[in-house]
Amino acid sequence: MSRLVFATHNQYKTKEVRAMLEGRYEVLNLTDIGCDTEIPETADTFAGNAELKSSYVTENFHLDCFADDSGLEVEALNNEPGIFSARYAGERGDAANLALVLQKMEGLSHRKARFRTVISLILNNERFLFEGLINGTIRETAAGTNGFGYDPIFQPDGYDITFAEMDLSQKNEISHRALAMQKLIAFLKSRAV
Ligand code: IMP
Repeated sequence: MSRLVFATHNQYKTKEVRAMLEGRYEVLNLTDIGCDTEIPETADTFAGNAELKSSYVTENFHLDCFADDSGLEVEALNNEPGIFSARYAGERGDAANLALVLQKMEGLSHRKARFRTVISLILNNERFLFEGLINGTIRETAAGTNGFGYDPIFQPDGYDITFAEMDLSQKNEISHRALAMQKLIAFLKSRAV
């Protein structure tokens, strides 16, 4: 069975993908391959950052690899926080990031936003990109305690609750990450020997 690295240390994400590719690929994460380097994410797009991570693994460990990068794009803020989503308010964490978005949007009526995930895959030295998007609006105040990051202020289109008010299983059916991951999995299944 072919080996494939998922460039993450997150055991939860690894477990999920491993289950989806069971019998087709042996999925290893960064911990499994002994990679504890903080891979620099210095590109100016999600795709660029995802490619930096997948390339790092392929070049240093000589293994096929995929990597993801995600974030929130708010139209009225010139698509910020974007690639800076994890550290929009410095290194002060999710609550500070979310508060900064709310503060910058105070009084603004144009509240459209989207979450985006891009996955970079390097397979037999060929490069592929997969993207997942979910459109929604930024609430005026936070609501809900599930999830992480900007979930309490993001209301996906077609729903009247935020991501943070949804069950994880409900979010995982419609999220940007889930959509990108589904495209990756469908592609890998079509390629598996
Ligand atoms: P990552 O690339 O998946 O690590 O995401 C980078 C940052 O984007 C996170 O630290 C969050 O601030 C934000 N983000 C990405 N996905 C989500 C999500 O599903 N909900 C809320 N925030 C997210």
